[in-house]
Amino acid sequence: MSSIQYKALKRMHDILPPDIYIWQKVEAVGREIFSSYGFQEVRTPVAESTSVFTRSIGENTDIVEKEMYTFLDKGDRSISLRPEGTASVVRCYVEKNLHTLPSPQKFYYTGPMFRYERPQSGRFRQFYQIGVEAFGDPGPRIDAEVISMLRHCLEKIGLKEIIFNVNSIGCPDCRPVYREKLLGFFAGGLDRLCPDCNRRYHTNPLRILDCKVDRCVETRKGAPKVTDYLCEVCRTHFSSLLLFLELLGVSYIVNPDMVRGLDYYTRTTFEVTSKNLGAQNAVAAGGRYDRLVKEFGGPETPAIGFAIGMERIIELLKSSASHDFPRPDVFIAAIGELAAGESLVVADRLRTKGFWVEVGEAENSLKSQLRRADRLSSKYVFIIGDEELKAGRLKWKKLADSSQGDISMFEITDFLRLQSS
Ligand SMILES: [Zn+2]
Ligand SMILES: [Zn+2]
Repeated sequence: MSSIQYKALKRMHDILPPDIYIWQKVEAVGREIFSSYGFQEVRTPVAESTSVFTRSIGENTDIVEKEMYTFLDKGDRSISLRPEGTASVVRCYVEKNLHTLPSPQKFYYTGPMFRYERPQSGRFRQFYQIGVEAFGDPGPRIDAEVISMLRHCLEKIGLKEIIFNVNSIGCPDCRPVYREKLLGFFAGGLDRLCPDCNRRYHTNPLRILDCKVDRCVETRKGAPKVTDYLCEVCRTHFSSLLLFLELLGVSYIVNPDMVRGLDYYTRTTFEVTSKNLGAQNAVAAGGRYDRLVKEFGGPETPAIGFAIGMERIIELLKSSASHDFPRPDVFIAAIGELAAGESLVVADRLRTKGFWVEVGEAENSLKSQLRRADRLSSKYVFIIGDEELKAGRLKWKKLADSSQGDISMFEITDFLRLQSS
């Protein structure tokens, strides 16, 4: 016999009860709120051709360079597990010609994403996101709607004191001008930037602005702000967005350093932080990506989306609130063989009415059955014995306050409904 110990892969986690109930709640809230804004669910595969991600996320991003799970399949094709959701949804939008349908087309998704994070980063390698994408509306009205929808969603989940960091990173007309200014600003101080930022200087200098390394934070003080270099169209777009956010009562701060890590963003970018969490840790983030559909071979189509990081939200909810986890409505203890059969019938009937029912093992003593009911935290215990059976009645007991009584078999559904209403 070998003594291999099977373990989940590093930084990949099992999600079990009772935590799973918090996950389900968050997902249910997402579905409910997104639907009210006309977003519909799509499910795309977790694996795609690697080029789907390199093309959209950008060759020179950490995700593509270091973090993708990429492998050759048996047909020698380069396949990658999705590191985020947007690229797949855009690929699907173009492939299925969804642009021929009336605009805007609005979608949401939930599911696992994969990034090969360093073990000490504290991040999961399989992690979950809920995201939305809206295609075909140039904004800024829909930008505000999407941001407000995210706010409603997070508030309903139970996150408090949410603040939106918003920014505009311009368009192909104005960003090159800003990029030049930025290159000029950092040109004399490259030795003060971290190695990553030295690389970014040549590939994607905007990303120096969100580097978390201390000396980079220090060096970029006084750097030109992207919002000062927006073209007329981008400036109007951004100021209208801010106006809409005020109308909708969304609390925001303009954060010109918030450029987001992905190459595909244009104009609006945003991140949500919560006061319960460090300011560095966004629970959700998104932005506008007006050029991506075209990059994938579709027609020019403006688009905007966001993704919520599930693990962070769940951590926050676990630490900030007490949760009421589901438990059985009824535990049926049976004494004797006839009663054992009857307990199955009663349980079956109640389950079709939507109640969670557990059945005791009649060969065990009543005492041991009750002990199990207690361990399951069942709300009620029904006790059926041969005598009760003859009379067509059963005994009930409420575990919370030890109240008890007896009722007719015909009344039990009404009895339970009355108790739970
Ligand atoms: Zn512009
Ligand atoms: Zn840096």
